[in-house]
Amino acid sequence: MSITRPFIIDTHAHLDMSHFDSDRPEVIARALAAGVDNIICVGIDLDSSRKAIELAETYSRIFATAGIHPHEASKVTKSDMAILKEIAKHPRVVAIGETGLDFYRNIAPREAQSRVLGWQLELAAELDLPVVIHSRQAEYEMLAVLRDWTSRNRKNGERPPGVIHCFNGDNESARRYLDMGFFISIGAYIGYPASLRAHSAIRAIPPERLMVETDCPFLPPQSHRGKRNEPAYVVTTVELLAKIREVSPEMIAAQTTENARRLFRLPE
Ligand SMILES: [Zn+2]
Repeated sequence: MSITRPFIIDTHAHLDMSHFDSDRPEVIARALAAGVDNIICVGIDLDSSRKAIELAETYSRIFATAGIHPHEASKVTKSDMAILKEIAKHPRVVAIGETGLDFYRNIAPREAQSRVLGWQLELAAELDLPVVIHSRQAEYEMLAVLRDWTSRNRKNGERPPGVIHCFNGDNESARRYLDMGFFISIGAYIGYPASLRAHSAIRAIPPERLMVETDCPFLPPQSHRGKRNEPAYVVTTVELLAKIREVSPEMIAAQTTENARRLFRLPE
């Protein structure tokens, strides 16, 4: 007997990266076969955002975001932001990002990271697009920046401000992001032994604010560690979340898909 499996949306994939150059069509076919309905291909700089849009033009199930990752922040000028704005007006672009703060690796100076994050938040408000937020060991600063931004830009009933991608924080920071209206996205890293401490925060996220992602080619499921991640493996995260939250995988898939459609305004 076959039952209809609810579709899943991988809300954060870097399919434009060279890791997929040798077999991208096969990777996408495997995702569709595994029940992945849509993939959000996330830009990390101008070039990568353009490539994400190209993929979204080629494959109807793929949508793109346009943004500059904090690691790339030191190279970015105001005139790059004007280019990003033009790129982001493309009809297949559903969000600004990923943008944020990474005080763990500190590849760009913190000051540059903050500046480029600020520019992208203003751009998102201007274009009425949600933001995809990367925050690593920068929770204190990130919460302050987002609180200021949401208080200036959000009016009641407006669309949700964005998503905190690869959330791995505690109950308190989750609650603060949720209070500002953000969605929280979870990947297969919740199955790593080191992520056990995040499980209680993950359990506390309301179902209508939860999303799933791979962040591929990075952060593969525990069973594939050291290898390349891909969108088909988002199914593992749905199963992990079902276990942690003690509900069915079908329920996780249906709810996270509905949430992603709402945040990114995806067609049914
Ligand atoms: Zn990413």
